[in-house]
Amino acid sequence: MSGNPPVVMRLVASAYKVAEKAGAIVRKVLHSGELGIVEKTGANDLQTMADRLAQQSICESLSRHFPKITIIGEEDLPPEKVQEDLIETGQAEEILQRSCPDEFKEVKEEELVVWVDPLDGTKEYTEASRCLRLGAVTQIPHKGSDTSRAHSTALWLLDNVTVLIGIAYGGRAIAGVINQPFYNYQLGAEATLGRTIWGILGLGAFGFKLQEVPEDRRIVTTTRSHSNKVVTDCVNAMEPHDVIRVGGAGNKIIQLIEGKASAYVFASPGCKKWDTCAPEVILHAVGGKLTDMYGKPYCYHADVKHMNSAGVLAALRNHEYYVSRVPPSVLQALKND
Ligand code: AMP
Ligand code: MG
Ligand code: MG
Repeated sequence: MSGNPPVVMRLVASAYKVAEKAGAIVRKVLHSGELGIVEKTGANDLQTMADRLAQQSICESLSRHFPKITIIGEEDLPPEKVQEDLIETGQAEEILQRSCPDEFKEVKEEELVVWVDPLDGTKEYTEASRCLRLGAVTQIPHKGSDTSRAHSTALWLLDNVTVLIGIAYGGRAIAGVINQPFYNYQLGAEATLGRTIWGILGLGAFGFKLQEVPEDRRIVTTTRSHSNKVVTDCVNAMEPHDVIRVGGAGNKIIQLIEGKASAYVFASPGCKKWDTCAPEVILHAVGGKLTDMYGKPYCYHADVKHMNSAGVLAALRNHEYYVSRVPPSVLQALKND
C-alpha cells in the first residue's frame, strides 16, 4: 500500500503485536509461579502480576505510538515508570497491507477510544497456576504425558485466558484484537503457543476458522465463577440442549465463532466495557450480535459507565430468539441492581 495507512489500520496493526507481547508476559508469569495475587472487590475479583505487567505493556506501548488516543485499562495502577523491556513497537504487516473500510478512512487519532483487558479470566488463571504448582510441574505438559492427565483441569482452565484490546469510534466498537496465550498448549513447544484473532467492522475477522453449532442444537455458554440464581434461571429459560460453564468473556466469544456454543448468556452485572469491546467486534464482524439482556447495544464512549449492568447476551445466529426467551423476572432483577 502506498502512503501512510489510515490510523485505524495502524492502531490495529500495533494492537496485534502488543497483544502478542502481553500474551507472552501472561505465560512468563505463570511459569515463574509468582503470581502476586491481590483481591480487588473480593475473592472472585482478582489481579495478578500478569494483569499488572500486561496492562503496563499494552497501555504504554500504544500511548507512545498514538499519544492522542484515549486508553482505558481495567487495572487501577499507580503511575510509575514502565520498564523498557515491556514496550512493543512492532506492527503486523499483514494488517497494514489491508485496505481500510471507507467509513473509517478519515477517523482521527483523538476520536478513538481503546478498551484494554490485559488478562480476561484471571480467576481461572490463578486456579490453573495452583493446580500446576500442587503437582510441582514447572513446564506445561503436553497431551499424552502422564502429567497431562493429572493436570488436565489446569490446562483446560488456561484456555479460558485471553488478552483483549477493543477499539471504539463514535461510541461504537469497531475493531478488536484477542490474544489467547495458551492456545495449542497440547503441543507443548513454546514456539507454537498462543494465537491472535483480530477484526474490523466491514472488513471481517481473522485468525480462526468460522464454525457454527448445528441449527437444531442450542448450546449455552455462561460463567463458571460468577453465577447466581438469576444467571441460572436465565440460562434455563433458553431451553438449552447443553450448558457449558467457562471463564472469560473473550473465551466465550471464541466458543461462539468456533462452533462450540450457540449463545453466551450472562444475566448479571459484572462484565465491564473492556470485557465486551473487542469480543463484540469479532462477533459482529462475522454476522453475530452482542447486546445487554434487553437486546440493546452497549456504548463505548470514553465517559460511559464501565459496568455492563444489564448483562451480556451474544449469539452468532438467532440472537432475537435468545432475547425473546429472557424472563421478565430476570429483567426485573437486573433493573434493581
Ligand atoms: P466470567 O464469565 O465469570 O469469566 O466473567 C467474564 C468477565 O467479567 C471476567 O473478566 C470477569 O472478571 C468479569 N466479571 C463477571 N462477573 C463479575 C463479578 N461478579 N465480579 C467481578 N468481575 C466479574
Ligand atoms: Mg475480563
Ligand atoms: Mg481482566
